[in-house]
Amino acid sequence: MSHTAELIAVGTELLLGNIANTNAQVLSQSLSALGVNVFWHTVVGDNPDRLKEALDVARKRADILITTGGLGPTYDDLTKQTICEAFGKPLVLHPDILEDIRAFYESALHVPMPENNTQQAQLPEGCAVFDNPVGTAPGCAFESDGVHVLMLPGPPHEMETMLRRHVEPYLRRLSHEVIVSRDIMTFGMGESSVDELLHDKMVRMTNPTLATYAKPCEVRLRATAKAPTEEEAQAMLSPVLAEVQAVLGNIIYGIDVADLAACCHAQLLRRGLTLATAESCTGGLVAEKLTAIPGASAVYRGGVVSYWTGVKANVLRVPADILDAYGPVSEQCARAMAEGVRTITGADLGVSVTGAAGPDPDERGVPVGIVYIGLATPEGTFCRPLDFGRRRRDRIQGLAANHAFDVVRRWLQGLPVERV
Ligand code: ATP
Repeated sequence: MSHTAELIAVGTELLLGNIANTNAQVLSQSLSALGVNVFWHTVVGDNPDRLKEALDVARKRADILITTGGLGPTYDDLTKQTICEAFGKPLVLHPDILEDIRAFYESALHVPMPENNTQQAQLPEGCAVFDNPVGTAPGCAFESDGVHVLMLPGPPHEMETMLRRHVEPYLRRLSHEVIVSRDIMTFGMGESSVDELLHDKMVRMTNPTLATYAKPCEVRLRATAKAPTEEEAQAMLSPVLAEVQAVLGNIIYGIDVADLAACCHAQLLRRGLTLATAESCTGGLVAEKLTAIPGASAVYRGGVVSYWTGVKANVLRVPADILDAYGPVSEQCARAMAEGVRTITGADLGVSVTGAAGPDPDERGVPVGIVYIGLATPEGTFCRPLDFGRRRRDRIQGLAANHAFDVVRRWLQGLPVERV
């Protein structure tokens, strides 16, 4: 039997929009991987009457209720008391937990425990206790009339630590199915074209399922299978991955990779090659995406944001006759920028981006959306010319950065780079 969970986030800050309900996102991802259906996310303020109302509704439509927040020691932390009243459970003091909380204050925070923290050691009678090694409020779980109630603290790092240590093992014991998803990452074709190619297949499938998700500037396909074990789910997914691969071919840049930057990073690492960047209209976006990856220094030499023509000429050594004859937004300039940054950094590969991101055409009248990606390699220099049309500036920049990574990954995979 599959279980249905409702997540109840408690906190007036959430309702006011001061913070986003990231706990729900993390919990939902974990529950879906465990095969637990999540049909409702509820958010309720620090108000016992409304929390009681939310619990009354939730216990009728879900058999796992998970609350986050409101376990602290202050007057507005009412989750435990309200849940215990709603489910007719007395709160009992756990002296060993009280000692743990006292020890946490003294050893981690170096202050004596305030007396109102005593209430954090009071938990529903007969519950399973979830210890909190990174904070003070323990979590807990109990079952009442077939409904499992789990209470977790609000601070995300405390919630997540408890989720991995206690909640996932607790739910694994209840659940008889796992859900496994594989993300097929594509670049170079719009969502509607991908959908058109796979539409008939996608609507026919029930388990596994296949769906498209447009991420900014690329399309992700997610194949999901539900089965009694992880191995069975993976075996159900293998033929789906193979079929999608046969239809989409090399626009697929990876399976279960975060993005194109991560794909390039992994491939450069595998091949022992280094990269340098020369960016104009993307203003350092390619460098930023690459350096966001831990361990980027093993493959990334550095980059130049050559926004001003003088920087293209003086730092990247783009020849003056190229700048005069063709201008900074040109195939010739993109090639020279890539070669320049490769030479000055000594990297194996130099990638460049130059273009008109808008909203106005560049000073030579190059229309908005024209972008050139250059790639200098030991085998020669390549250029991919692009025309994104009159899109928003940030979209043009995002697309241009992804094309720069796509040019690199295609070269690394031995594919043609100049056309998508
Ligand atoms: P504490 O012991 O710190 O009081 P608590 O369990 O009582 O913990 P809250 O007081 O409700 O939790 O929330 C503490 C902080 O945790 C909030 O100020 C907020 O920064 C964060 N937080 C709470 N709920 C969420 C949520 N659903 N998603 C993301 N962050 C949250």
